[in-house]
Amino acid sequence: MLETFSAPTSQSLVSSTEPSVQIRNLNFHYGEGDLFKQVLFDINLEIYSGQIVILTGPSGSGKTTLLTLIGALRTIQDGNLQILGQELKGLNPKKLVQIRKNIGFIFQAHNLFYSLTARQNVMMSTDLFAHEGGNAMAAAKAAEILGELGLSERVDYKPHALSGGQKQRVAIARALVNRPNLILADEPTAALDKKSGRNVVTLMQKMAKEEGITILMVTHDNRILDVADRIINLVDGNLESDNIINNFSASHDEAGMDSRTFML
Ligand code: ADP
Ligand code: MG
Repeated sequence: MLETFSAPTSQSLVSSTEPSVQIRNLNFHYGEGDLFKQVLFDINLEIYSGQIVILTGPSGSGKTTLLTLIGALRTIQDGNLQILGQELKGLNPKKLVQIRKNIGFIFQAHNLFYSLTARQNVMMSTDLFAHEGGNAMAAAKAAEILGELGLSERVDYKPHALSGGQKQRVAIARALVNRPNLILADEPTAALDKKSGRNVVTLMQKMAKEEGITILMVTHDNRILDVADRIINLVDGNLESDNIINNFSASHDEAGMDSRTFML
């Protein structure tokens, strides 16, 4: 079963009828005893292949926690969570690592290693794989994806010599180099100017539509809401609303939106 996850075309595993992400009655808490704090309450959610879903909600509402659970970065405590047809609950750490190979994570650009070049940063991700061709193959793959993102001239530059938008594209290249089925992005445009932010989401939109990649993105950036197929809103650990974008724009003019939704 797990071998199929590292196959290069594992995208074909995801049939159009099977959700990429399926969450049932998920609860999550931090701490125990006096420190016990429940942060997610009875979450139910299905996300289908090729969908771009934006997750929004006030600071502290549990967005990052939910993203890290979906990304197999935390242990499921209560409820069920399936990624690409595989139930995460009860999996041992080794199997969780296998699952993570199908997921690309994009966090803010400062997650880059500043002592490494753009190419070496991307290779940190390919290193997860045991390549037959070894390092040379990984280096070539890293340069190729950086080229696809318009950074062919910047492959051997370190982050301090790159603009904010270029750094974020390196972070995206690192997330994409293994051709994941699912991309989880936590405020990927927060540190970017309007134009760079737009480029980043346009690229993500292209990948979702052309390659059937599923994207779940936390953002408060209402300049990019239009790329979403759906917007879901988390408030105090509860999924409060789930709108397909056409309905969303029809019923929410920007000025009239619940200000809590877009608060940082
Ligand atoms: P968001 O991303 O929506 O801002 P988080 O998922 O980061 O929300 O946090 C949800 C709640 O869980 C917050 O109250 C936060 O303080 C708490 N929290 C987050 N991480 C931890 C942790 N490692 N230990 C204890 N509490 C945490
Ligand atoms: Mg967060």
